[in-house]
Amino acid sequence: VSRPRWHPSAWGLGTRFVVLFLVLLLAIQAAGFGVIRARFIANARASVAGELQVGERALDKLLAQRATRLADAARVLAADFGFRDAVSSGDRETQRSALFNHGSRIKASATALLDNDYAVQASTAADDAALAATAARVGALWRGAAGGAGEVPVVVDLVDGQPTQFVLAPLRTPLPVGWVLMGFALDDQLVRDLDDITALDLTLLVRTETGWRSAASRLPPALDAALRARADTARGTPTVEIAGVEYGWRARPLGTGVQALLLHSVDAAVAPYLALQWPLAAITLAGVLAFALGGALTARRITTPVRRLVDAAERLGRGEMGTPLDGTARLDEIGQLAQAFESMRRSIAAQQAELERLAYWDALTGLPNRAGFSAALRTAIAAAGPASGRVAVVMLDLDRFKAVNKATGYAFGDRLLQAVAQRLGAFVALPGDQLARLSGDEFALLLPGRGTDDALEVARRITTALEAPVTLDEQAVDLPAGIGVAVWPEHAADAQTLLARAEAAMVDAKQRSLGPLPYDAAADSASAVNLSLLSELRRAVAQGQLRLYLQPKVALSDGRLVGAEALVRWQHPQRGMIPPMQFIPFAEQTGAVRALTLWMFGEAARRWRELRDERGAPLCVSVNLSTHDLLDQELPDKLGAILVQHAAPATGFCLEITESAIMDDPQRAEATLQRLAERGFKLSIDDFGTGYSSLGYLKRLPVDELKIDKSFVLGMVDDSDDAKLVRLVVDLAHNLGLTVVAEGVENAPIWNALHRLGCDEAQGYHMSRPLPADTFIAWSRRWNDRVATGWGGLEVA
Ligand code: C2E
Ligand code: CA
Ligand code: CA
Repeated sequence: VSRPRWHPSAWGLGTRFVVLFLVLLLAIQAAGFGVIRARFIANARASVAGELQVGERALDKLLAQRATRLADAARVLAADFGFRDAVSSGDRETQRSALFNHGSRIKASATALLDNDYAVQASTAADDAALAATAARVGALWRGAAGGAGEVPVVVDLVDGQPTQFVLAPLRTPLPVGWVLMGFALDDQLVRDLDDITALDLTLLVRTETGWRSAASRLPPALDAALRARADTARGTPTVEIAGVEYGWRARPLGTGVQALLLHSVDAAVAPYLALQWPLAAITLAGVLAFALGGALTARRITTPVRRLVDAAERLGRGEMGTPLDGTARLDEIGQLAQAFESMRRSIAAQQAELERLAYWDALTGLPNRAGFSAALRTAIAAAGPASGRVAVVMLDLDRFKAVNKATGYAFGDRLLQAVAQRLGAFVALPGDQLARLSGDEFALLLPGRGTDDALEVARRITTALEAPVTLDEQAVDLPAGIGVAVWPEHAADAQTLLARAEAAMVDAKQRSLGPLPYDAAADSASAVNLSLLSELRRAVAQGQLRLYLQPKVALSDGRLVGAEALVRWQHPQRGMIPPMQFIPFAEQTGAVRALTLWMFGEAARRWRELRDERGAPLCVSVNLSTHDLLDQELPDKLGAILVQHAAPATGFCLEITESAIMDDPQRAEATLQRLAERGFKLSIDDFGTGYSSLGYLKRLPVDELKIDKSFVLGMVDDSDDAKLVRLVVDLAHNLGLTVVAEGVENAPIWNALHRLGCDEAQGYHMSRPLPADTFIAWSRRWNDRVATGWGGLEVA
């Protein structure tokens, strides 16, 4: 899902970090703001309530002070002689004048003389009667309050609707004769006085028939009116809200129908806080900015190395293991993460190196493997350059290693390979030379700067080096090899082709057994021909293109014809007669050889009755078996069925098996051989001497005959080593009770030498080449005649 860049899910870590913390910061600020504001308002309310309380006490004190002043003035008047005389004398005019003088001195609003029953005797008021009711109420109040000593009670009453504070002073002559009454109007002066000592607003209210009337106030008329309207209902509550403004208030009753209202605006108390809000907001804003900046920087400090780590991880993902990570020196978590990444990179790099080692190196010998060799070859070719450089490859394959491995066990085989690798190591002479093990028993030598002749020379020296048997655990093992040579750029334009050409040359050398060979394009195309032949071979069997050829086997003692070897020929419709070496090796590799074997055996069985010696006794016909035949469990039964078909006995046939065919799978081969022997077939070991098998091992097999390989026989006259070997084989075989046959008897000297050694039978061109069956029968008649009439054709020592 792809989202636009501004969407939160597309934000980078840094942005999320900053946004998250800004939101948190603002939330915390807002919460703090709210709490402070609520607390502040509560504080303001409490302080308003406290101030009202203080104000009420201040009002009380103010009223008490006025009472004291008033009382002093009243006592001065009561003590005045003239006044007391006038009272004694009942002189109303003098009384009234004294009342007026004293009252006006202290600005009293009312001054009067009362009798002991508080009835007005004389006064400064216009109408004494108007004062009478007031004087009576004040007298009653005064009597009720006059208990305390020294204190002057505060008594308030109305005069003409005006609240007034009154005091009484007793008048004695010396007997109490009455009271002096003095009154002070409670007016704006009182409001001003209180205003001077407190920050409160004071309103004096007087009850009328229609409600409360304001007697003294400095409040704006609208507020004053609103207050009066709510004076009764809001009395119990500490605050009142008027026109959206909250006030703390306190009512103080002063007398009947008179009360003082103290007032303080809560909003005014909160105002300082409200003023504080702006700097607070500014500080918050500055904090948010600072935080955003710091957060972004911190986020960058975190995310930049994280991004670098991400880049590094991506590099690792692409397989670039070479670059070490930076940032591992940091001590924080990022540093730890970088360190973890770095150690991960190192272990992956180590694993990769190990994999590379496994991919390019052979564990057994410690040499490069095929992949490693190919890489080295490519490098060498690239380095050689097109001008004059050359790169030679010498490839060799041990001849019988597979069989040795099976016969001796893999552990022994491994040590043999190591020994061979060590021997070959001596040929790594110049810098750049490289030895490698390409596969099981296949080695290759890379020789940069060497041409075909130099490489062939090295190959020949390798051949010589490998001729000395390898001795392990007191067992001497011969490991000859086929060696091929190919050179860049003569034989191939690239490394891969060069390897293939060297291998072709090596296969060629193995087949021809002529020592090391350079790559030969003609031979290569011949082997390609061989391959195409192979596909035709199956049809060839069915279409009767195969021919049975026979080559005689003759007793060395007296020249008697004792048998014949059946050898196949292929009469190809286009190519003419094809010799077996051009298709048998390939047929053997694929198993197509099995049909061929059965055809040959059938043909031999069919012609068996016609093959006779000089006395008319049947010849023993030898038929070659291959590895695939030996591994076929049903072979004995199949051969048995063919014998039945042609009414021939198994004893009339000898089956030739090479050592290597047995060694490919000794157990199965032995089982098959056992069953063949039980049926009555004679068994012969073919090409004896070229393989590894010891005579001791062969003794365990139900074998009747040894066939010494023609390579030894052909050389025995000229090469004393070959002669010694033939002699040894003949003696040993005889000790084991085996018949010895020599193949490759090309001439009389060989015949004579074999005769002297006591070899039993001979086969070779000296007597006859392989012949078509019909020709062989004609030849055998002539030969038998010669033998019957006395042996003279051959020299016998
Ligand atoms: P082999 O079994 O060792 O057969 C003997 C080979 O030596 C034959 O070659 C024969 O012509 C050759 N030879 C005989 N005398 C002499 C001599 O005096 N000098 C020299 N230089 N060579 C001599 P050929 O017929 O070409 O057969 C080659 C190989 O092909 C045989 O070697 C055998 O391994 C294989 N082969 C031939 N026919 C068959 C067959 O029917 N079945 C199987 N499985 N292999 C066969
Ligand atoms: Ca043979
Ligand atoms: Ca042979």
